[in-house]
Amino acid sequence: MFDLAGKIAVVTGGSRGIGRAVSIALAGAGAHVLVNYRSNEEAAKETLRLIEEAGGTGEALGFDVADSESVETAIRDAAKRHGHIDILVNNAGISIDQLLLRVSAKDLEMTWATNVNGAIFCSKACIRSMMRNKWGRIISLSSVVAESGNAGQVVYSSSKAALLGMTRSLAREYASRGVTVNAVAPGFIETDMTADLPETARQGIVDQTPLGRIGRPEEVAAAVVFLASEEASYITGQVVRVNGGMHV
Ligand code: NAD
Repeated sequence: MFDLAGKIAVVTGGSRGIGRAVSIALAGAGAHVLVNYRSNEEAAKETLRLIEEAGGTGEALGFDVADSESVETAIRDAAKRHGHIDILVNNAGISIDQLLLRVSAKDLEMTWATNVNGAIFCSKACIRSMMRNKWGRIISLSSVVAESGNAGQVVYSSSKAALLGMTRSLAREYASRGVTVNAVAPGFIETDMTADLPETARQGIVDQTPLGRIGRPEEVAAAVVFLASEEASYITGQVVRVNGGMHV
């Protein structure tokens, strides 16, 4: 449906979950996808296998999003190899859930280093190439809790809300250069991140969701592909909510 032929996309944390689904969907639309992983190269290669099985192309790209130097080096080399980077999906994220009184400085630092600093480092590393080509897409994975809040998620939800501030500022900063910047805010999606939730909590979430079920990674990926497409050229600084109506 959407044509991303000739585009080079970077998907951070593409080795599993939503990042894997996004990588497969972007490749399915024709993009060459650089599937980022931090340590699990095997899992990134499995994403690549799935991409190739469906007729797409990509490669694995190892770096830790929280490490500004390795982000710069990996993305600079990739841009040199391919001539351009067109699409960045800031998907890598971690969640350490604690009530405020149990939050440690280390939990806070780790979460923000990955979820916020990581997205800013990756955006910075890709923006020059996008500006040069006068075309680019930056799409960041926020969360329903950035807007609704959630008891026990002060660290995670504040980091995801920070991504909305980043999105709106970058949208204003780079609109004149042909770069659109948007966020996708999923509700509760079936992945490793949510796999450990007890059955009662899971049922509680389903009960609060008008569509009456948990979401699938592919349903989030579909919104990302749309935002990456030419058809979304007049959308910037926005949040697309993929949450089954959980927060309206
Ligand atoms: P997941 O835990 O299954 O996958 C996260 C990926 O990020 C993993 O591949 C992990 O290796 C990678 N990652 C973590 N730290 C990294 C780092 N420093 N450098 C590079 N990669 C790193 O999670 P998911 O459920 O697929 O979530 C993907 C994104 O969507 C996250 O940003 C998450 O916060 C967001 N999100 C998920 C849900 C949900 O219900 N699953 C809801 C809202 C938002």
